[in-house]
Amino acid sequence: MSDDEDRLLHSVAMQNAQSILLARQRAEQALPSAHSGLEDKTRELDFSLSMMRATLEASRDGILVTDDNAQVTGFNQQYVRMWGIPEQLMASRDHERLLSFVGPQVEGMQAFLDRVHEIYRTSPAESFDLIKLRDGRVYERYSKMQFVEGRHVGRVWVFRDITEQRRAEDALHKKARVLELLNKTGTILTAKLDVRMLAQAVIDAATEISGAKVGAFFYSTAARRDKGFALQAVAGMAMEDFDTCGLPRTGALFDLTLSGAPLIHLDDMQKDPRHEAPPTAASGARKPAVIRSYLAVPVASGSAEVIGGLFFGHPDAGVFDERAERLVTGIAAQAGVSIDNARLYEVARQAAEEREKLLDSERAARSEAEHMSRMKDEFLAMLAHELRNPLAPLRNSVEILRRGSAGPFELEETRAIMDRQIAHMTRLVDDLLDVNRISRGKLELRLEKIRLADALRSAVETSRPLIAARHHTFEATLPDDSVLVDADLVRLSQAFTNLLNNAAKYTPEGGSVALHTVADAQGVTVNVEDTGIGIPAHLGNRIFDMFVQGESSPSMPESQGGLGIGLTLVRKIIEMHGGRIGVESRADRPGSRFVVWLPVAQATQVPPGADADHRPNPAQPQAPGTSFEPRRILVADDNKDAAFTLASLLGMMGHDVRTAHDGAEAIAMAADFSPEIIFLDIGMPHMDGYEACRRIRQLDQAPAPIIVALTGWGQADDKRKAQEAGFDHHFTKPVDPAQLEELVGSNF
Ligand code: ADP
Repeated sequence: MSDDEDRLLHSVAMQNAQSILLARQRAEQALPSAHSGLEDKTRELDFSLSMMRATLEASRDGILVTDDNAQVTGFNQQYVRMWGIPEQLMASRDHERLLSFVGPQVEGMQAFLDRVHEIYRTSPAESFDLIKLRDGRVYERYSKMQFVEGRHVGRVWVFRDITEQRRAEDALHKKARVLELLNKTGTILTAKLDVRMLAQAVIDAATEISGAKVGAFFYSTAARRDKGFALQAVAGMAMEDFDTCGLPRTGALFDLTLSGAPLIHLDDMQKDPRHEAPPTAASGARKPAVIRSYLAVPVASGSAEVIGGLFFGHPDAGVFDERAERLVTGIAAQAGVSIDNARLYEVARQAAEEREKLLDSERAARSEAEHMSRMKDEFLAMLAHELRNPLAPLRNSVEILRRGSAGPFELEETRAIMDRQIAHMTRLVDDLLDVNRISRGKLELRLEKIRLADALRSAVETSRPLIAARHHTFEATLPDDSVLVDADLVRLSQAFTNLLNNAAKYTPEGGSVALHTVADAQGVTVNVEDTGIGIPAHLGNRIFDMFVQGESSPSMPESQGGLGIGLTLVRKIIEMHGGRIGVESRADRPGSRFVVWLPVAQATQVPPGADADHRPNPAQPQAPGTSFEPRRILVADDNKDAAFTLASLLGMMGHDVRTAHDGAEAIAMAADFSPEIIFLDIGMPHMDGYEACRRIRQLDQAPAPIIVALTGWGQADDKRKAQEAGFDHHFTKPVDPAQLEELVGSNF
């Protein structure tokens, strides 16, 4: 090493030594002040720790501080007090052990513990929970992660007792709810007028407001009071559960309220002697619940009459307080008035409805009556017209006869005209009589087992002249003789005659008319169809109603006339035979088709004599003698013209005839003249034909005269009466000359 190097080393060593020395000197100088600084700091720290502790203790919240290992690093006495933690447990500083101690105080312990562990595990920045204690207190728990100088050091748990606050809130809420309910009920009570809805609203509100578990509304109107009060509405259960809800529905306690006793409030109904325990339920049935708290209040109408009662129950004793009493009494009072109103409203509404109905039916009846009266007027006008129509040719014929200058051809023609016109008038009158019978429900049928073909054949025979006169082609398929019906032969053939005559009448000349029959096992269908003017579609089956007529066709003046009752008769007759009739307009060509359906009878022997030409009415005339014998005949009729013409006719036949014009005269003449045959009109003044007949029979003449009744009525009843009075025969006016001749014989 060179000297230079030596020197250099030495100087560096010196420098270092100096600086060390300097530093040491400096350090020695600084030490005392560092000491005092440290002491200051320690004091400051102590102070702030005490401040912190004092602050912690000043809080009304319970505070616990833990580190991440669930070691307690701090707490305040409020925390210890809130949970009642013993001192030595607190000294353990083990949060888990604290949790095992507080857990059982909490409702839902497991959930509480799980939540704490979850907070440890997930380390949320903050947490907020409500903790319900088993003794009813409520704690709010807030936790926050703790950081010191940016470092996570643990968690602060803050517990606040909010029990009072919650109670106040609950009470407020309840109050608001009661107000809301009362308000709502009030609105319903004033707005609704339906008793059932009112009852339900009342019991729902009152049950909730009173704090009852179950509530029931029994109600009865005065009209039903004797049947007792009926359960109208329930709350807190289903209607069908009432019998097991524990509230009484009979017994002294129950009756007391419904007989108007003021509010009954029992803290424990089970201890009240008036309470009757329900009978032990049958095995399998649900056991009734036990009600202890009981509240019942009558519901009275505006006139202070008890119309029902509100009943409340709760399984716990002493639930209802004075407030519940007040509210329930108030609701019952309001309910009484509102239900009364609803009831009055209901009565008024029903009365109004009734009145409206009455008015409606009166209006309908009036318009029906007006309609009927119009129909009747139209009918009478038409009837007058129809009856007058044949009079003109008859009058002319009489004039021809009076002049006596007619040749044999004119005479024969005149006679034929008179015949036809009289037949027409007779038919009109017969129809009228039948319709009159229908409307009085007096149309009678003589049902027999007959061959349908016989009835149809008879109808065809009767209509054939008209069909021929109008030059229609005609075809008929009749059922074979095995098709039997239970029917009145005359009426049934009358029905088909009407249909065939109409077909001929409402078809322009030269058309075609047909009758076809199709039989099956249950019934037989008869179609009567034509190629005529058809039935207007708008009429349809109304054409069968009385007096209804289609429009007359200008091209067919002969279709005019008629009374609009023929089809009414047809339908009635068919229906009385258990059948149906309908009409169809033909789509393929003009014309109508009347479709009649009749039930067929069981095939047994057809009684002999049920033949087409058999009539129910006619006298059973004596067989005309082979040699003519003039007879002594008495004709008694108060209608002198009728008596005269009949007498003349009989005189012209070669008989010795006298006339009488009342019953007394007839008897005198019968005694004097000893007639062999007497024609007695039934409807004579002073003494009717029946009486006259009885008296003549009392003369006991030998040989007894044949006495024949002449009436306008061919009813079975008239015939029976005639028979009882002693008549031998019964002729319906006008008497058919052929029938007359058959009875008395003639020398024409
Ligand atoms: P009337 O023939 O006396 O008027 P009805 O009761 O027999 O009475 O018939 C009622 C109406 O039905 C007739 O006026 C006619 O307009 C209509 N009518 C009946 N039968 C036929 C038919 N075969 N074709 C067309 N119209 C008919």
